[in-house]
Amino acid sequence: MGIHRRRAAIVAAAKWLGKVYNAGMTRRNRSEPMPVKYWSAAGICLTDWCNARCASCYLACRPGRGQWMSPDMAVDVWQQLEAFSPHGCRMHLAGGEPFGDIPRLLEVIRRADRAGLMLAKVETNAFWAADDAITRDVLGQLAGTSMGELLISADPFHQQFVPLASVRRAAGVAAEILGEGRWRIRWHDWVERGLDVAALNEAARRDLFVEWFRDGRDRLNGRAADELAGALPRRPIGSFAGQDCREGLLRGKHVHILPDGGVYPGTCAGLLLGNVNEVSIADLWQRLERDGASRPVLGRLVESGPVGLLDLAGDFQPEPVGYAGKCHLCWAVRRHLARRGENSDEIGPAWVYDDHESTPGSA
Ligand code: SF4
Ligand code: SF4
Repeated sequence: MGIHRRRAAIVAAAKWLGKVYNAGMTRRNRSEPMPVKYWSAAGICLTDWCNARCASCYLACRPGRGQWMSPDMAVDVWQQLEAFSPHGCRMHLAGGEPFGDIPRLLEVIRRADRAGLMLAKVETNAFWAADDAITRDVLGQLAGTSMGELLISADPFHQQFVPLASVRRAAGVAAEILGEGRWRIRWHDWVERGLDVAALNEAARRDLFVEWFRDGRDRLNGRAADELAGALPRRPIGSFAGQDCREGLLRGKHVHILPDGGVYPGTCAGLLLGNVNEVSIADLWQRLERDGASRPVLGRLVESGPVGLLDLAGDFQPEPVGYAGKCHLCWAVRRHLARRGENSDEIGPAWVYDDHESTPGSA
């Protein structure tokens, strides 16, 4: 069979699969309620800016971005989440890289403190820990707040951009100033291994990335799918049939709030549940409970996973070699829809899908 006929057969089979699963699942669930769990954990992404451009970043943060959430908005959303969740909401501050604007980060934390809000953790790649004086100054200021934990990201992807020396300095000063239980490195085994990723040639770096990714510590969504899937084993689309995303999308109890107010479920960056600049957290949740199952994108993913999205995607041309996982397939279909400008209330923000530049040395 020629390449065009093979591709056409794959497309037809994929779309048929999508229709079959959507039809079957819609019938099965028509009379069932759609249970949506309360959000008991949330991350406020203060910015989409990052000094790094990690190949594993599912949110596609990068130096070229520069959107920041105001402290007013951050504290307001935080209060709403805390008030709405019956058992409270475990909050963390993230990005992008929230230490890209340290005064803003500290202002958010201090204002939250004054409002009686508890901060579970702040995430960072520690790029700012360039010398002892800065590191002591910043961590000294954080020590006096309610911050539960400083979580320092460290893996081969981050160390392409951030020297391990900065990670070790941040950890050393945190141990001294913040104390036991208030700081953590993810991943410690990587820091002990101690490879200088920036000094590797491109082939060695690519091999390291693939080796690390195969450990299953990262999600193959967004930039990670673009940059890493090429070196991973593929499976045919049919093998993902029946893998629905109900648990992650509606019952995952965890959301992230983007600097422009977009809310995405768990780690499914590029999907939107709504926008807190348009509706309150309570309204957003109630709308999700009311109509999440019938939304064109979310409903299909909830019922049938990314295979269910295929019949929405019209002229989407699946890769004949298949996909490295269901999130890889999901990303490919969503990006196709994003490029056509369709379903932008559910698929966005646009900058997550506009990340064309390839990371130097990526797979
Ligand atoms: S994974 Fe973290 S450090 Fe890396 S680009 Fe994304 S936000 Fe920045
Ligand atoms: S397939 Fe899509 S919706 Fe499902 S978990 Fe992966 S990224 Fe999220």
